[in-house]
Amino acid sequence: MTHINDVTSLTVEDGIAILTLNSPPVNALSSPVRDGIYRGIQLALEDKSNKAVVLICEGRTFIAGADLVEISGKSTGASLTEAQSMIENSTIPVVAAIHGTALGGGLEVALTCHNRIAVPSAMCGLPEVKLGLLPGAGGTQRLPRIVGVEKALQFLISGEQIAAPACVEMGLVDALAEEGHLRRDAIAFAQQLVAANKPLQRVRDLNDKLEADKGKPEIFSQFRKSIARKTRGFLAPELIVQCVEAAVNNSFDDGIKEEGRLFAIVLKSKESAAQLYQFFAERECWKIPDVPKDTPTIALKKIGIVGAGTMGGGIAMNFANVGYDVTIIDSKPEALDRGLSVIKGNYDRSAKNGRFTKEEVDSRMALISGSLELSDLADCDMVIEAVFENMKVKKQIFTDLDKIVKQGAILATNTSGLNINEIASVTNRPEFVIGLHFFSPANVMRLVEVVRADKTSKEVINTSMKIAKKIGKMAGLVGVCPGFVGNRMLAQRQREANNLVLAGAMPWDIDKVLYDFGFPMGPFAMSDLAGLDIGWNKEKSNGQTIRDVLCEMDRRGQKTGAGYYDYDKNRVPSPSPVVEKSLLEFVKKSGVEKRNYTNDDLLARCIYPMINEGAKLLEEGMAIRSSDIDIIWVNGYGWPAYRGGPMFYADQIGLDTVLAKMKEFEAEFGSAFKPSALLEKLVADGKKFKDA
Ligand code: NAD
Repeated sequence: MTHINDVTSLTVEDGIAILTLNSPPVNALSSPVRDGIYRGIQLALEDKSNKAVVLICEGRTFIAGADLVEISGKSTGASLTEAQSMIENSTIPVVAAIHGTALGGGLEVALTCHNRIAVPSAMCGLPEVKLGLLPGAGGTQRLPRIVGVEKALQFLISGEQIAAPACVEMGLVDALAEEGHLRRDAIAFAQQLVAANKPLQRVRDLNDKLEADKGKPEIFSQFRKSIARKTRGFLAPELIVQCVEAAVNNSFDDGIKEEGRLFAIVLKSKESAAQLYQFFAERECWKIPDVPKDTPTIALKKIGIVGAGTMGGGIAMNFANVGYDVTIIDSKPEALDRGLSVIKGNYDRSAKNGRFTKEEVDSRMALISGSLELSDLADCDMVIEAVFENMKVKKQIFTDLDKIVKQGAILATNTSGLNINEIASVTNRPEFVIGLHFFSPANVMRLVEVVRADKTSKEVINTSMKIAKKIGKMAGLVGVCPGFVGNRMLAQRQREANNLVLAGAMPWDIDKVLYDFGFPMGPFAMSDLAGLDIGWNKEKSNGQTIRDVLCEMDRRGQKTGAGYYDYDKNRVPSPSPVVEKSLLEFVKKSGVEKRNYTNDDLLARCIYPMINEGAKLLEEGMAIRSSDIDIIWVNGYGWPAYRGGPMFYADQIGLDTVLAKMKEFEAEFGSAFKPSALLEKLVADGKKFKDA
């Protein structure tokens, strides 16, 4: 065996050179890995008795991507392009032998190999788009040459990992190896190639699939249309499409140049900076300073849910999806039946859309049982309460659960903002009580706020964070305060949006500013969707609020075809002249001075108070770090990922800008806008939230 460097070695077996990378944990494309590939292939080619090369990795995976720590730093030795050229220009076949994941730059290296073999459990993907980047090492040029334009576009824009058998089907991988025997099968595969003595398959020279799509710009315009909604505001997806267009319309070398030019743009973009920041924030959020990694956890097997309504059903699905036994309780038989049939309906829809099989629906449903007796939760390891948002009802349930459920089990509540210390106080085991604040729809939304009460034990916190991860959620650990982190900040935006309307701004103008900022919808469109009459009482209504006025006109939102907006039969909204007139009359009557607002005014009034509230939450220790607040807003409240989250956004625009505006607001509108002490201090010290 020849050691090329610390992470690369070369051996020869029966005329096949085997270049092995061993750079734990994931064989990322660091300088030594790139240089090792370059020099390893060079060495293999020097010995003319070698007939082929197998490129294989030790450890748990093939090259799983770029070295993110090095991405913007200095590198030494051969560049990635040089290493790839060395492979591609080799005079003997180079076979990539893939296990684990071939991701990003790793897959781009595999694409420069002449052939690819993978074990069935291997996954391939180009996830750069998720970091606001694009594959900049030839991926956008080589992939369509192998799989065709349409599949390449989908692969590149989704950023998802595809399993090896599906990769074989699309032509990305040539053959499957037997699980656990990759080295043996890759050598045999290389020997077959040598025996067949066919010309080398250099992906850069394959043009058949592209020829078919030349001169068909409609492929691209249709694709752009199909992703428009999902990718609104992001930069990378459009530039990726442009790269593939370049692959179709230019020579390989010109296409590579164009990819390089566009890569330089995304690399420097604010969108990518925000998405890279989110990526690290989503890793950081699991670290709890006073709950070390080795804190014991409570073994969970059986989960109980109380309340089979909107939230209970979705929460149950999360657990059944990963194989837990779940028992759902409701006090009303019809509510229980409805809850179970909603779950079944959701699963059936997923099966119909091809997300999983019908058998899978049955096996997941078999894990969920319903009951009307709280006593059926006695042997649960964790119970999550999701009944009405009412302290009295919740206290009663926790009193009962404390008596019924075995000792050592976790008692969690899905309250949106009630005081969990108060809920815990009715039990004899407050250290086992915690908040698990899921978002609606709970089976879809990625966020859980894990709410730590005063007495919650470290074991319970650790177990809750781990289970959140296991069911595929992103978790932010927060403290007990009204609305916790997310809803407390949201309340600021809601209040100011309403105040703006009371001073003559139109709901659709505010909504549009927030939509253009990147939110899926503004607060008034949201109210129309939810229904304006939630919590409204016809008997007590007396035109005192705008909601009263609208509900009294039977404008109760989308369901009545009218709310803040008018809706056509397809529920497409348009600004309502009737509402405009009523609002202006209301403003006049209330004596508030009507103002004209610029879009910047509207945005600042809605967003800056939220940022200020975020600062207060940090100051009070309700959130551990500003990046936790950001993952909460991106994953739970539709804050656009390409803007990183409210605290990151504030760091970008400058905390001094936010502070100055809050002071202006405070002078004009009073103490609700008082800047947080932390914000003042950070500005005085010239620091950012990320340094707090
Ligand atoms: P829901 O009205 O849809 O469901 C509540 C269910 O609890 C009903 O089926 C009801 O019959 C049942 N129930 C009431 N009292 C009960 C009792 N004593 N024993 C057993 N079952 C009982 O409510 P939801 O929207 O699912 O909300 C549940 C909780 O989740 C609330 O605390 C709410 O604040 C919180 N939450 C809701 C959302 C949301 O968007 N809906 C989001 C996050 C959190």
